[in-house]
Amino acid sequence: MTTTDAPTPTPPKPVPDEDSAGYWEQLREHRVVLQACTECDRRRFPATPACPYCAHPHWRLEQAAGTGTVYSFIVVHRAFDPAFAADVPYTVATVDLDGGGRLIARMDLTAPIGARVGPHFVDHTDWTELRFQELEAS
Ligand SMILES: [Zn+2]
Repeated sequence: MTTTDAPTPTPPKPVPDEDSAGYWEQLREHRVVLQACTECDRRRFPATPACPYCAHPHWRLEQAAGTGTVYSFIVVHRAFDPAFAADVPYTVATVDLDGGGRLIARMDLTAPIGARVGPHFVDHTDWTELRFQELEAS
């Protein structure tokens, strides 16, 4: 067994562009927003310059509750970046948000498909990450 004193790599942080800047800014305030097409009203994620459903170029930001239902998930067993090596295994879920839109983010625990989840905001030094966590059954 070998040991190393090499520092743990820093996870890469998002690089917002003009389409995604609002999403990242609102996450910093612990709010979930999605782009919504001004023509067909459909929400989309990730942020894109035009609507993937009707190709309309104009959009607005809509606040979402951040709650939803697990549509699918994967469990990552091999880190794509050395900065996440200590995190494996971890789960990435696709969640159908209440009010429309489907969002992809890490999930704190593996909840089954169909489980109700809500947002868990993880504050890093200069950005905030959205993760999902399973909601308690009522
Ligand atoms: Zn559209």
